[in-house]
Amino acid sequence: MTDAQTILVLNSGSSSIKFTLFAGQDPIVDGQISGLGAAPRISLKSSQDKDRFDRDLGSEDGQSHTTALAALLPMLTSRTHGRAVDAVGHRVVHGGVDHAAPIPIDQAAIARLEKLVPLAPLHQPHNLAGIESARALFPDAVQVACFDTAFHRHHPWVNDTFALPRALYEEGVRRYGFHGLSYEYILSHLEAADPRAHDGRLVVAHLGNGASMCAIKNGQSIGSTMGFTALDGLPMGTRCGQLDPGVVLYLMTAKGMTADDVTALLYTQSGLKGMSGISQDMRTLQSSGDPDAKRAIDYFVFRIRRELGAMAAVLGGIDTLVFTGGIGENSAMVREKVCADQNWLGLAIDPEKNMAAEQDISSGPSTVKVMVIPTNEEEMIRRHTARILRAL
Ligand code: ADP
Repeated sequence: MTDAQTILVLNSGSSSIKFTLFAGQDPIVDGQISGLGAAPRISLKSSQDKDRFDRDLGSEDGQSHTTALAALLPMLTSRTHGRAVDAVGHRVVHGGVDHAAPIPIDQAAIARLEKLVPLAPLHQPHNLAGIESARALFPDAVQVACFDTAFHRHHPWVNDTFALPRALYEEGVRRYGFHGLSYEYILSHLEAADPRAHDGRLVVAHLGNGASMCAIKNGQSIGSTMGFTALDGLPMGTRCGQLDPGVVLYLMTAKGMTADDVTALLYTQSGLKGMSGISQDMRTLQSSGDPDAKRAIDYFVFRIRRELGAMAAVLGGIDTLVFTGGIGENSAMVREKVCADQNWLGLAIDPEKNMAAEQDISSGPSTVKVMVIPTNEEEMIRRHTARILRAL
């Protein structure tokens, strides 16, 4: 251990807490507690792989975010040689219209973030539970909220609005956009590795369990596929992506589904899982011979291609396309299908470079640079948290 600051990054979901502990810039421990409230488990590994385990957590320890973090605490401090955590950086899905940057958390900030719960009912309450728990367990640490929406706050009005009465826009029914921490990380990587790509017309496809795409010009978000909630845009592991609102009306009026039924359907039973009837996991679908698995992949790819074309129109052309997220980084097959027959855009990839997931997978004649860049949202949260810690 050095004198460097110790920063804990937390991503608190409904049934899991993902954590990374940093000493200075180095991640020294990471892992997750899953199955909160049901069958809690903890998996943890240290950076040098000196210790790694995956085991059940006592059911009392796994009852809530607070008990789970309390159980985690001694495991962390034993690996920091007792050194206290200086700051905790939290991933918070929604910052609303007021937050275009991370903030230190105090009681007033919590009250503001609680008001946003109706805008992200499946994420925000759990993010807040993680914050409350961390404040109780690390009372001397600075707590910082880093928002998935912040990166998009200055996108143009036409991308911020729906064609609904103005009063709804004023009360917050807007296209916020998410995955901002991932987009920021990709931009920061490009700033050092490829300044021309950073400053040009850029499309980033974040393809994981959650999936979205972002059109970026001169380092600024100018449009994204996610809107008011993290349901819109591309189909995802279990979320539907873009949907005619008339379908929701039909489900509720003709089929008598409740709001809770529709919420469960659109968030947890749709997307790759719902279409294939097999799995939400791209690896499983790719290796399946079932025609429904193929159809689910075909639809996923179709929507990405469609958004790519739309973003090319909005940007006035594309200089760089970046693939990231679990699927974007690892599925040569999805990248190949997305990039097939894109000569109209001047975009082509080299099959061998694509198979090897090189950073630049463009073919020689391609006028669009196509890149594969692993994202790192935890590192982005660490940087934001360290900056706020320094400024205090
Ligand atoms: P999250 O949004 O939960 O962070 P990830 O970014 O980890 O999700 O992405 C998970 C997705 O990445 C899953 O669909 C998984 O199947 C897919 N994935 C991971 N590795 C591969 C691989 N080698 N080939 C294809 N898909 C992969």
